[in-house]
Amino acid sequence: MSFAELNTPKRTIMTPGPVEVDPRVLRALSTPILGQFDPAFTEIMNEVMEMLRQVFQTKNHWAFPIDGTSRAGNEAVLSSLIEPGDKVLVPIYGRFGHLLVEICERYGADVHTIDCPWGEVFDSEVVIVEMKKVSPKIVAIVHGETSTGRMQPLEQIGKACRAQDVLLVVDAVASIGGVEVKTDDWCIDAVVGGTQKCLSVPSGMAPISYNERVEKIILSRKKVERGIATEDDNRYMRSSLPIASNYFDLGMLQDYWSPRRLNHHTEATSMVYALREGLRLVLEEGLDERFARHKFHEQALISGIEAMGLKLFGDPDNKLTCVTCVEIPPGVDGEAVRSMLLQEFGIEIASSFGPLHGKIWRIGTMGYSCRKENILSVLGALEACLIRQGAKVNRGEALQAALDIYESKEVS
Ligand SMILES: *Cc1c(COP(=O)(O)O)cnc(C)c1O
Repeated sequence: MSFAELNTPKRTIMTPGPVEVDPRVLRALSTPILGQFDPAFTEIMNEVMEMLRQVFQTKNHWAFPIDGTSRAGNEAVLSSLIEPGDKVLVPIYGRFGHLLVEICERYGADVHTIDCPWGEVFDSEVVIVEMKKVSPKIVAIVHGETSTGRMQPLEQIGKACRAQDVLLVVDAVASIGGVEVKTDDWCIDAVVGGTQKCLSVPSGMAPISYNERVEKIILSRKKVERGIATEDDNRYMRSSLPIASNYFDLGMLQDYWSPRRLNHHTEATSMVYALREGLRLVLEEGLDERFARHKFHEQALISGIEAMGLKLFGDPDNKLTCVTCVEIPPGVDGEAVRSMLLQEFGIEIASSFGPLHGKIWRIGTMGYSCRKENILSVLGALEACLIRQGAKVNRGEALQAALDIYESKEVS
């Protein structure tokens, strides 16, 4: 049996990840491999660290990618901080809050949760009051919740955490590179980003950054192994348990990303190239310009959706710019519409999870996928599919409303 050369269909990807990848990133992926200790490669690693600091808006020394998908970043940070019995407070407002709980529990944390209805976010004061009650070591929270399309304001929570000497760990997987994430100004101690969302790099890496408060804990948990530890390691008091994971041990990982280059894993060379090019694109565009672009296309999409007569899901005041949740009209089979979009138009949008499954569609406008041609394609095709499925929509209105926005201000 022979297998044909890869020949994937042409797609317009309008999901909350993975999204389309800029051709420049695809080209970077085909760059020849370098050895992981080759000075030519370690120089590229240092550049990636510097670019990550800028994108995370931080002066932190530590900013590097974890190999693995985005949850690998969450797991690396949480496993390196949590010792069995540590109290962690997780405010949950969607599916990815549950993922944080799941990871914390596996590392033996005493997890306290608070919930709010899906489609809403927490009043910061509610989180702060709960934090005073629980006195956790860590507050772990999602910044951009892709499952509900909401964004949790973090500034007040961050300041309260710092004042009470609580560590703030933030999952900014879906927001980094698409909306403002001010690591230092918001007093975030450890932040986790994702590649396959607003950075528009393939899935497979999770950039993280953390400050000295986090580093101090990591160093206190260093495991001294024959042949690996140096004099340097013995400076640190080892009063705490070693980090439970080898792969996600931030102490070992930061030694590899430091000038010491202590061997840990084999770095994913091609992904480092891809991430570097993705970050270079972000910084070339400019953070403010990039956030404004995401806002602008969101506005065009929303105008189109509403002009069609569809309803948006969730609290509009805390909408996540890069994910638009649309209520599936009564009597319409959401999955039939999605599969027709894919089959007839090559366009992918997402369904949702848990209590929202079958109730909403989620349209992503992230990174390279966040462009005029994509917004107009998804609006036109969605209208056609809805009419085909017998739904009542305002025919012909959606594209006109979006074009009105585009004509009001020309942005690429
Ligand atoms: C996508 C996403 C993740 C998980 O990413 P994987 O790459 O699938 O591991 C985690 N948190 C948030 C908020 C996400 O949107």
